Amino acid sequence: MTLADIVAALPKAELHVHLEGTVQPATLFELAQKNGVPLPVADVDALESWYTYRDFDHFVEIFTAICRCLQTPDDFARVTAEYGQSMARQNIRYAEITWSPFTHAGADSDLAWENLLAGINAGRERARREFDVEMRWIPDIVRCYPDTADTVVDWLTSPEAQAGGVVALGLGGPEVGFPPELFAGAFRRARERGLPGNPHAGETVGPESVWGAIRALEARRLGHGVRAIEDPALVAYLAERQIPLEVNLTSNICLGVYGSYQEHPLRQLVEAGVCVTLNSDDPALFRTTLNDEYRHAVQDCGLTLGQLRQVGLNAVRASYLPEPDKTRLLEAFDTEYARIIDHSTPGGRDT
Ligand SMILES: [Zn+2]
Repeated sequence: MTLADIVAALPKAELHVHLEGTVQPATLFELAQKNGVPLPVADVDALESWYTYRDFDHFVEIFTAICRCLQTPDDFARVTAEYGQSMARQNIRYAEITWSPFTHAGADSDLAWENLLAGINAGRERARREFDVEMRWIPDIVRCYPDTADTVVDWLTSPEAQAGGVVALGLGGPEVGFPPELFAGAFRRARERGLPGNPHAGETVGPESVWGAIRALEARRLGHGVRAIEDPALVAYLAERQIPLEVNLTSNICLGVYGSYQEHPLRQLVEAGVCVTLNSDDPALFRTTLNDEYRHAVQDCGLTLGQLRQVGLNAVRASYLPEPDKTRLLEAFDTEYARIIDHSTPGGRDT
């Protein structure tokens, strides 16, 4: 069994993936045509190469184009169901997915928040029915628009959001210049209404951003958090409290947080006892999959299969599933991991 075979066979959960970053080029092309949105390229082939990550400005350009092309509840249903299909292909049984509600249903949009949520949930229902995968939502506040934070919290703590699969409040967008402390009030209101905080921190800013997310936002779990490695006291704190990190290897390399997989601190964090999970962030834009991330973790970052097993199970432990569901999923994963990993020695290397 090759490492790729082992990884493909493992059941997986994904905790850090942006719905907008899952949209494949062919889908974007069709949505642009349907909705009359101009794209800087003429056909799908050109779109494929335009889609390949070049630098951060280019990344923002693609992300903005995706957001412009997603207009109706049906558009959201489609991309959600398509991600469900991708989950099934990779044996991802459960995902907690981020999307940016104000970007799609804010003041400048014709789409109402309720209809956005309904569209995404129609896609979830289709994914559940056709592909047997489960999803929950971590919609986020976009940091460079702090004025939208209260509206987003009101939306996410409404009865329809709670019934509609919203499990936490995210915080995304540019970390530089928009520290966690700016959002302390919004995250407190969310917590008071029962919604835990799950901000991005410690990606493009160092340990102070992770400390801020912990102290000012009382983060239950952290998007990225990898730059905690620069502060041994913080690593010890994360390990002691078992505050989970959602690590995204390929994303970190594309965005220049680390120069290579070999330089990434994944293994150090795991060996320090931090509750680390592996995720794909924006898989279509970074041309990765969760399976690729698991493979890189072993092949390029030096995790043993035993450590990979622990990281895989961490994703279930760190999820927002209710305890009985979590226990059931953990038992199922554990049984399958034992069967697959204990009985296989990876032979050959994959490209
Ligand atoms: Zn992210």
